[in-house]
Amino acid sequence: MTAQQNILVLNLGSSSLKFAVIQPQSGHVALSGLAERLGNDARFEYKFDDQKHDIELANGAVHKDAISTLISTLEQNNLLTTLAGVGHRVVHGGETFSESMLITQENIEKLDQLNHLAPLHNPVNMEGIHSISELLPQIHQVAVFDTAFHQTMEDKAYLYALPYELYEQHAIRRYGFHGTSYRYVSQKAAQQLGISQSDSQFLIAHLGNGCSACAVKNGESVDTSMGLTPLEGLPMGTRSGDLDPGLSEYLNQQLDMTQDDIMTLYNKQSGLLGVSGISNDMRTIQQHAEKGDRRANLAIELFAYKIARYLGALATNLERIDALVFTGGIGENDALTRSLILEQMTIFGFKLDGERNQQNGDESGRITSDDSTLAMVVATNEEMMIAQDTQSIIAQLQDEGA
Ligand code: ADP
Repeated sequence: MTAQQNILVLNLGSSSLKFAVIQPQSGHVALSGLAERLGNDARFEYKFDDQKHDIELANGAVHKDAISTLISTLEQNNLLTTLAGVGHRVVHGGETFSESMLITQENIEKLDQLNHLAPLHNPVNMEGIHSISELLPQIHQVAVFDTAFHQTMEDKAYLYALPYELYEQHAIRRYGFHGTSYRYVSQKAAQQLGISQSDSQFLIAHLGNGCSACAVKNGESVDTSMGLTPLEGLPMGTRSGDLDPGLSEYLNQQLDMTQDDIMTLYNKQSGLLGVSGISNDMRTIQQHAEKGDRRANLAIELFAYKIARYLGALATNLERIDALVFTGGIGENDALTRSLILEQMTIFGFKLDGERNQQNGDESGRITSDDSTLAMVVATNEEMMIAQDTQSIIAQLQDEGA
């Protein structure tokens, strides 16, 4: 093993920076952490050697300040010299990027042209790339896209039934997200079942704060629930998922809501939070449901029902279901939601094994009985996938002698 064995994985949100130093083969995390509330009352915390540390950031510190603090932290903990490269999670790769790519000047220019597709996300991701270029000019950087895995969808799946010119002239189509998670989980599920990925058919439900579902056939995404933006599809923590497009006009005309009000309603005030009126967090909602709160119960039931309905639709892309795979914070940990979804899908032959489900899966992840269509839990690991892509792109570069 060379000295440079680790990859720094960066995930920038609108006011946050998540980071991890990962050994790509083993998945070992040497250091990880989070800077939050950037631009405001920022805080920076990290874990190293099983110890948690807090660092004070100057008032108003922004992403670049947090990255600079991160680099000093890596230096102090003797990790900076172990880095082989930096992998960035980039939300939108449009139709330009169907796989992870090395950051070069030419690719940066192509990426800049995609900002209009994800104006809240991509420019922030670019800030991360530019900050690293300035602070660590020698290091190789790789971008890993949330959308890339879904570029295998056929046009009948990715097009909206809108005038075709909107696609041709403005790139308006469905892209899908959570692709890095689906790629990891579909590989891992095939491994755990001892089947070949090139002959596998999975339905995958990624249920976290953001939720989506995907049909993955022979290792490729055939269709997914998110669209041009992550708002389409399943209900989520605070997002509504699918709605009648006529609702926006109704809210505007009848309730006098502006475009901004309506988008805030759909993105920030709906989903589990909107229906329960309590929280966007499934654990909190379940605590209230157990005490008999009607809307908390309704939020859980509606969430499971609509997910089952979508999974049923996605199943029409498959010839068989090798497994329905649950992942994400809710998918991996919440026995109740999984059981409600499977009860709604008995037509597909699912029979829950209560004990396996309570344990979040047996040793191979199964939560169903032996005579059932298989459903299982697989823990996602997007950071590891980003680290592996980064490492393999850098290795290729070194092979080419660049
Ligand atoms: P993100 O999409 O932000 O990465 P996560 O994948 O961490 O989010 O998922 C967060 C969701 O997972 C929250 O709704 C949280 O309540 C839920 N969750 C985490 N652990 C459990 C648990 N043990 N039981 C039920 N829900 C859980």
